[in-house]
Amino acid sequence: MAEERIRNGSAEPGLKPRLGVSTCLLGENVRYDGTEKSDPILLGAFGDAVEWVPICPEVECGMTVPRDPMHLADDPDSPRLVTTATGEDQTGRMQTWMRSRLDELAGCDPWGFVLKSRSPSCGRSAVPVLDSTGAPAGEAAGLFAAAVAVRFPLLPVADESSLRDDSMWDNFIERLFCLKRYRDSMQPEGSRESLVAFHAAHELQLMAHDRDVLHEMEELVARSRKLPLDELSARYEELLTTAMEFVATPAQSADAFLHALGLLERYMNPGERQDALELIEEHRGGRVPLTVPTKLLGRYIQKYRVEHLATQSCFASHPNELKLRNRS
Ligand code: SF4
Repeated sequence: MAEERIRNGSAEPGLKPRLGVSTCLLGENVRYDGTEKSDPILLGAFGDAVEWVPICPEVECGMTVPRDPMHLADDPDSPRLVTTATGEDQTGRMQTWMRSRLDELAGCDPWGFVLKSRSPSCGRSAVPVLDSTGAPAGEAAGLFAAAVAVRFPLLPVADESSLRDDSMWDNFIERLFCLKRYRDSMQPEGSRESLVAFHAAHELQLMAHDRDVLHEMEELVARSRKLPLDELSARYEELLTTAMEFVATPAQSADAFLHALGLLERYMNPGERQDALELIEEHRGGRVPLTVPTKLLGRYIQKYRVEHLATQSCFASHPNELKLRNRS
């Protein structure tokens, strides 16, 4: 049943993010007024590199198309879903459906979600909540989006409007692949060794995101033998998610590249070192994208066979991750 709802891209082999998505974003006419909300640029950027798991909470819980428009009402900390014209409460119906659908979604092993912004069901934040007079009472997440956040607290969740921003897009894709790599590295039977190896391979990537959280992760890894594996793994995953949520700035990425250069420069001739240094600083200044110093350093890492750097995640991305991140 769950598998039937997965919409595959092309038959291209490889690691594909499986993403829950608001059905209207895929161009299906499921909105209250019988329209859709597809974004050709966004859909084009994802292309056939993902597997979609379409979800329309309102239609799937039994509402018709078209239907009365709805809004969130009353307490922003615990909003109700009501029809705007008649005030009919749809909260219970939605909650009953969500319980089984979230179980089904968990069985699909999603990597993350792309949800429709501003919807009282799918909006992940800042959806207006109105009081009984129709006046603004605050903001909240839509009912389904809030339930997704509780059920899948560590998975990346974005809305289509935030993904128009290049840095948010890049961060979202990076987080999808990073968390998946971690979970895969701990399957079928994780070990301290595999966690330590994962950490070593992600040092530079984490450095570009959040050095403080990286420091906490290093402390955790250092005392890994003193903790039960399940506790260690859960805490590590939590810290990994926290670190990756910080969007890496060009300056932070440049610092991580300088760290890599420090390990490479003993093999390089002065001209190579100078070229790399200049490109890193160009990236820091926002004049060249991340891919430029990544590719140049990657070439030197291959040329001089620097094993420790060759296995760093930022120089060894999966082709599908590179394809998605380089949307522009
Ligand atoms: S925003 Fe969500 S509930 Fe509304 S039409 Fe789109 S998928 Fe359905």
